[in-house]
Amino acid sequence: MTTHPFLDLAPLTAARFASIEDRVARLLSTEQDVVIMQGEALLPLEGAIRGTAGPGTTALNVITGPYGQTFGDWLRDCGATVVDLAVPFHAAVTAARIREAFAEHPEIDFVSLVHAEAATGNTNPVAEIGEAVREHGALFSLDAVASVGAEPVLPDAWGVDLCVIGAQKAMGGPAGVSAVSVSERAWARMAANPGAPRRSYLSLLDWKERWIDGGRRTLLHAPAQLEMLALEACVERIEAAGLDTVIARHTAAAAATRAGVLALGGGLEPYVREAEDAAPVATTLRAPSGVVASELVASALAADPALPLAAGGGALAKEMIRVNHYGADATREAVLGSLVALGAALADRGRAVDVEGALRQAVANFA
Ligand SMILES: *Cc1c(COP(=O)(O)O)cnc(C)c1O
Repeated sequence: MTTHPFLDLAPLTAARFASIEDRVARLLSTEQDVVIMQGEALLPLEGAIRGTAGPGTTALNVITGPYGQTFGDWLRDCGATVVDLAVPFHAAVTAARIREAFAEHPEIDFVSLVHAEAATGNTNPVAEIGEAVREHGALFSLDAVASVGAEPVLPDAWGVDLCVIGAQKAMGGPAGVSAVSVSERAWARMAANPGAPRRSYLSLLDWKERWIDGGRRTLLHAPAQLEMLALEACVERIEAAGLDTVIARHTAAAAATRAGVLALGGGLEPYVREAEDAAPVATTLRAPSGVVASELVASALAADPALPLAAGGGALAKEMIRVNHYGADATREAVLGSLVALGAALADRGRAVDVEGALRQAVANFA
């Protein structure tokens, strides 16, 4: 029998697992404990909320896209009182709005925020918001799945107590494992929470008590080995290129897409109104009136199925186009190809477009 590269692997050791956690911690410049969870990022996102929130919690839940809605539902399910702060998907939340919420509801002791939203294309000023949250003294939970690798994610500098990442977006890695950095404050909140999951797949405390506090010598269960190796390879690749370089590729892809679309015309425009609110991970576009976004995307993909184009999810499918220029698609080729294909699809619908002008503007951003 010949050995198979995926199947006939020696078991992943505890030491190797711990070293992957340490590399993820370095990627986040954090001294906090980093726990790698054996599932997609929704696992630590739910574990973080269920571990820290309970009937005594008043949570400020910032909604800048579809994930915020889900987090609010989990918080309510835990018995927390939830103050929802919804921001239109074409904008970002500001630190001033967060401060207003604290002034109106001084009892807020937990803040849930999504850093960047791949689904709606906006990004929020976490450094400034973190300052406001720290002044108020609330626990700060951040979904950085769509920002890590595309823009700086600095839980320690920003005072983030629970920072969740996944590798499947800008890191260009696997979707099946994820990580969360946990501050001392967050561990203390969990330890004091009678409702925090224990002896459960959702439990962060299990990892604290049986993995971290034991010196990371014995794993709780057999890890998702292939996904762990893929995560290790993905972090290695980012280290080799340099995190700053990976971030710069995403910044350039987003700026090029935005500038290209503005030059393209044809009624297509950036969905997020202000450039500073637009996420480096993905650029969302508003379809011209009279054009159904999902149909325009279908035409563009018919010309080139490899392009990173998608229509918005759910009700947004009619009006939103997503250019998912992340990971392996944070390239000049993917951006230029997307502009050409969208331009051709608009021209087919009788819209006047300037593809040459769009490409010139886009190329300038990759110089
Ligand atoms: C992508 C993403 C996740 C993870 O969800 P998947 O759809 O399974 O990839 C979580 N939060 C945010 C903000 C994301 O963009």
